[in-house]
Amino acid sequence: MNNQKEGRLSFWEAMAYTRRGLAIWWKACPQVLTARGVKQAVDALAPYLPLYFTARLVNTIAGGGTAEEGWRTLAALLLSAAAAGFAQAAANCWFGFVLEGVHYPAWTSIFFEKLLSMDFCDVDDPRTQTLLTQIKQNDNWSAWGLNRLCYLFENLVNAGFRILGAAALSVSLFTLPVRPDSPLVWLNHPLCLVGITVLMVLSVIAASALANKGNNYWANFDGTAGNRAYSFFYFIGMNERFRGTDIRTYEQDSYFETGAEAEKDIETGIGPNSSIASIGRAAQGPMGACFAVSQAVSQAFTGVIYLFAGLKALGGAFGVGSITQYAGALAGLAQGITTLLETVGDLRANAEFLRPTYELLDIPNSMYQGSLTTEKRSDRKYEIEFRDVSFQYPGADTWALRHVSMKFKVGERLAVVGENGSGKTTFIKLLCRLYDPTEGEILLNGIDIRKYRYDNYLDLFSVVFQDFRLLAQPLGQNVAASIAYDREKAAECLKRAGFGDRLTELPKGLDTCLYRDFEDDGVEISGGEAQKIALARVLYQNAPFIVLDEPTAALDPEAEAEVYTKFNDIVADKTAIYISHRLSSCRFCDEIAVFDHGQVVQQGVHDTLVEAEGKYQALWEAQAQYYQKKER
Ligand code: ADP
Repeated sequence: MNNQKEGRLSFWEAMAYTRRGLAIWWKACPQVLTARGVKQAVDALAPYLPLYFTARLVNTIAGGGTAEEGWRTLAALLLSAAAAGFAQAAANCWFGFVLEGVHYPAWTSIFFEKLLSMDFCDVDDPRTQTLLTQIKQNDNWSAWGLNRLCYLFENLVNAGFRILGAAALSVSLFTLPVRPDSPLVWLNHPLCLVGITVLMVLSVIAASALANKGNNYWANFDGTAGNRAYSFFYFIGMNERFRGTDIRTYEQDSYFETGAEAEKDIETGIGPNSSIASIGRAAQGPMGACFAVSQAVSQAFTGVIYLFAGLKALGGAFGVGSITQYAGALAGLAQGITTLLETVGDLRANAEFLRPTYELLDIPNSMYQGSLTTEKRSDRKYEIEFRDVSFQYPGADTWALRHVSMKFKVGERLAVVGENGSGKTTFIKLLCRLYDPTEGEILLNGIDIRKYRYDNYLDLFSVVFQDFRLLAQPLGQNVAASIAYDREKAAECLKRAGFGDRLTELPKGLDTCLYRDFEDDGVEISGGEAQKIALARVLYQNAPFIVLDEPTAALDPEAEAEVYTKFNDIVADKTAIYISHRLSSCRFCDEIAVFDHGQVVQQGVHDTLVEAEGKYQALWEAQAQYYQKKER
C-alpha cells in the first residue's frame, strides 16, 4: 500500500504531524521520550568536557605552566571524564530499561486502547483492518510511523545539544587574535571568520542534502507488498501454532516454492528482480554514493578547521592543545547541524507514514450513547422486542437481516435456527448492540436500546460467540473474566458447565494456566473443553440474558447430550437465546424462530413447526435422515 497516494505533505503539515506524534507518545508514556532525551543530551555533551580539559592540559604542558597547574588540570580532566562516563552509563541504563520494558507496551497500548474504545462496527470494518495491517507493515519494514518518530526525536535532541556544546567551545577560536607581530596576523581579519562560516554552511548543506537524497531512496520505495509476502512465506513456519500437518499431508512444499518464486515478481516481491533487491542495488550504486560523498564532505571540512586552528596556534593566538578542542568542537558543530537537517528531512518522510496511524486514531465513535440506566430490577422483568429490524453490514449491498420482528421475555427459551448465512449471528450482534439496525428498532422494556447507557445495557447479556477466545491465563480468571474472583463460584460454574471431572484432574485446579504460552505446565485444552469453559464464564456472569451461539458445536455427542439435559439447570431463571443449526437441540425451547435469507420465516414450538410444511420441516427432514429419524 502506498502511503503517499494522497500527495506529499507540505513541510509545515509534516511538522504538525510530528508534533502530534510526540504528543501521543507523551500521553501514552512520558518516560519513552524523557529517557531518550536525557540519554541523547548526555551523549552529545559528554565528549566536550574531556575535550576541553585535554586541551587545557596540553596547553599547560606545552606552554610551560607550573607542575601544580598541570596536576590540577589533570585532576579536572579525570574527574570530568569520570563524571561524563557515569552520567552516560546511568542514562544508558534508564534508556535500556525503557527500550526493553516500556517502549513496546506503550506503543501497543496506543492502538489497543483505541481499538477497545471504538464502536465494534468500526473495528469490524474491513477498512480498519486494512489500516492496522498498513501500520504494522510500515513498522515492520523500517519502524516507519510512531516508532521511528522516537529515533528521530533522539536525533533532534542529540543534534541540539551537540550544537550548543560545540558553539560554547569554539567561540574563542574566532575571538582570540593572532599575535600582531606574527606573519599570520591576516588570520585576524574578519573575512577569515566569514570564510570559515561560509565553508561550514556549504559543507553542512551539501552533506545533509546528499544524506537526504540517500534516505529518499528508502522513503520513495514502497516495500509493504514485499514485506507482506515476506511475513507470510518466511514466518509461517515459525508461528507457534504452526504444526505443518496440512502442508505435509497435502505436500504443499511446492506451493511454498512457487510462492517464493511469486515473490520475485518485480512489483510485490523480494527476489533478485524485486523492489527490495532494487534498494540493494541502489545501496551499491547512487544511494551508497550519496552517503559516501556526504561523509567525505564533512571530513574535508574538519580538515579545513584543523588547518585554520593550527595556523592560529602557530601565530600565538592560543596554545597548541586548543587545536584539538576547536577541531573537535567545530566538527561536532557541523555534524550536529547536518544531523539536524537530515532529521528534519527524515521527519518529513516519516510524516507520510503517520497518516494511517492518525486515520485510525481519528475514527470517531459515531454510535449514539444514551444515558438511561437499565434499572437493576430485582424481579428481572426484562422484555426485548425487535421491531421491523433490517440490517446491512457496512459496505455490503445485501441485507443480512430483513424486517425481523420478535419479542421475548426473561425466563423464556428462544431457539434461533436456520442454515449457515441465514442471519442468526447478525441477529445476536444487533441484540448486543455491537451494531445498530439500519432500519427499525430494538426495544428493551419498550424503550429503544440506544437510549440506555451502553455498558449498562451490555451487563444484561452473557454471550458465547462462535469465535469466543480464552486467554493464556489461569482457568479461574478465564471463568470470571477478572483477576480477582470468587473461587467457589468459579468451580461451581465449571461443574455446571460439565467441566467438573476435568477440573478435579488438574493438579493446580483453578490456578492451572490455559495453553503453554506462559507456563510450561499449562494445559492445552480441546475445542469441546474450551466451549465448556466459555459456558462456565456465561454462568459466572449471571446476567439475565444468556446467548449461546452454537454452544455445543465442538462437543462430542455425549457432552452435547449432557449440556442439553442440563440446559434448564444451566439457564435457570434467565432468558436463553440459543442459536443452532442442529434442530434436535431446540426441542426444549419455548419458542423457535426459523431464519432464512435474513428473515424470520417461521415461529413456533417444535411440535407444531415440524408438522407444518416449511423451512423448519425441510431442515428437520434433512438432518433426521442421518441421525434422528426415530425421534420425530
Ligand atoms: P449465520 O449466523 O446464520 O451463519 P450470519 O449472521 O453470520 O449468518 O451472516 C448473515 C449474512 O451476513 C451472510 O450473508 C454473511 O455473509 C453476511 N455477513 C456476516 N458477517 C459479515 C460482515 N462482518 N461483513 C459483511 N457481511 C457479513
